[in-house]
Amino acid sequence: MTNVMGLASMPAFRTVGCTCGGHTLTAGSIVATVLIALAGLLAVPAVSHTNAGTTFSLMASSMAFVAMGIAQFMATRPPFIEKLFGGLDRIYQFHRKIGIAVLCLILVHYFVTPDFQGLSLTSGSNRLAKTAGEWAFYGFVFLLILSIVKVIPKTRFQIPYQYWRVTHRFIGLLFVLVAFHQMFIKRPYDSTALLATYLNLFALLGVASYAYTQLLPWLRTRKYEVADVVRHDGATIITAKPTGRKLKALPGQFGFFRVNKSGLREPHPFTIAGIEDDGTVRFAIKPLGDYTKALREGVAVGDPLTLEGGYGHFNHRRGGNKQIWLAGGIGVTPFLAMASRLKGDEGQDIHMVYCVRDGAEAIGLDTFRKQAEKLGNFSFVLHNSATDGRFDASKLVSGTAMNPAEADLWFCGPPPLRLAIEKGLKDLGKAPRRVEFERFEFR
Ligand SMILES: Cc1cc2nc3c(=O)[nH]c(=O)nc-3n(C[C@H](O)[C@H](O)[C@H](O)COP(=O)(O)OP(=O)(O)OC[C@H]3O[C@@H](n4cnc5c(N)ncnc54)[C@H](O)[C@@H]3O)c2cc1C
Repeated sequence: MTNVMGLASMPAFRTVGCTCGGHTLTAGSIVATVLIALAGLLAVPAVSHTNAGTTFSLMASSMAFVAMGIAQFMATRPPFIEKLFGGLDRIYQFHRKIGIAVLCLILVHYFVTPDFQGLSLTSGSNRLAKTAGEWAFYGFVFLLILSIVKVIPKTRFQIPYQYWRVTHRFIGLLFVLVAFHQMFIKRPYDSTALLATYLNLFALLGVASYAYTQLLPWLRTRKYEVADVVRHDGATIITAKPTGRKLKALPGQFGFFRVNKSGLREPHPFTIAGIEDDGTVRFAIKPLGDYTKALREGVAVGDPLTLEGGYGHFNHRRGGNKQIWLAGGIGVTPFLAMASRLKGDEGQDIHMVYCVRDGAEAIGLDTFRKQAEKLGNFSFVLHNSATDGRFDASKLVSGTAMNPAEADLWFCGPPPLRLAIEKGLKDLGKAPRRVEFERFEFR
């Protein structure tokens, strides 16, 4: 793991970062922001001999370009930066923030038109680079707005993920256009300027990353075959065995899952709800949208799968010696993987609460109850809202001898449940030492 500026050796920054104004600052987000800001700073000596407007415009375009290059690189999902950001889901959140920043910066570059004072477009490549820049600008504005606006305001209309995902792949092509634009447009500085070298470095990084994600994603996938399918009320439970190299994943991690048959080829992220030493994996998938419902109907024993992972940092071993695990609905899957691997020698006391709307949707109860019987450091409670009423912080506190104020809260489930419990515990003066959560949502 690259120890950038020693940040990676600082435990706080290495895994969870710190929260400032509701935003999680991680080593990764700090490094990326510094690299982007540096482009703006390098633009000053390179173009300040022109005028303030041009300097401002090229500071914005240089920062936007580096941000785009970093975003392309993040899309290659390199494991070493997962640690810097605290998990792939955090990388996607930062990726989204970069998208918003790029939209603002290119609007500045477009509306504060650089004035190159007589430096007219001389060669064919100059003119082509100008056109490429304009087309890339319109394309970026359209695709970035499509990405940022998930639900059309004042409507419930949401661009279905699978269509959005196809459009999002074109952003890399637009980056190639912008790389051509920044390299061949007539600039008020020559190729020896530090800015030129810096931008060319990110052009290379961005184009190579895009080529990798479009041409070589198979390098990081594994071939599996469905060995068993259980259509449980709460989830479709799929067990699969490796037909080649097995997946490497820690309990609590997720992977990208797809079935190599018509209608089910789109990759979706699912937590690996169980992984054996021989590479056998289990997924528990709630049928809630078009893919997960089609999967429930269409998946069968013998189907070939393509899996990629494990990703994510949701692993209790990173936590303190007192932990409260709170699972809501299908958010139980990372806890199922972690609980099944507990041996009792973790040096951690763990109390788990599993909230379900009704008992029929509960999965993995045998595992949790067996481990609770067997292990002295693991206790388990099932909260069935249909019979026990709405779950809240006071029920959490009264349901365990553990004082939440001395423990970490590990959460996976609907965000409103987490926010309500966090607030409830705070109101009770029992705010947890830290809150770790995994979102089942990238976008
Ligand atoms: C880290 C992580 C772990 C997850 N683990 C589980 C799990 O263990 N079990 C489980 O049932 N669900 C899990 N999910 C949620 C699961 O990925 C979505 O429910 C599923 O992709 C929905 O697809 P759909 O077409 O059925 O629903 P849709 O109605 O099309 O989508 C519902 C929402 O799911 C998201 N989504 C849809 N397609 C994709 C995609 N291809 N890639 C990423 N997000 C998508 C979108 O944000 C969308 O708003 C996890 C999600 C993440 C991010």
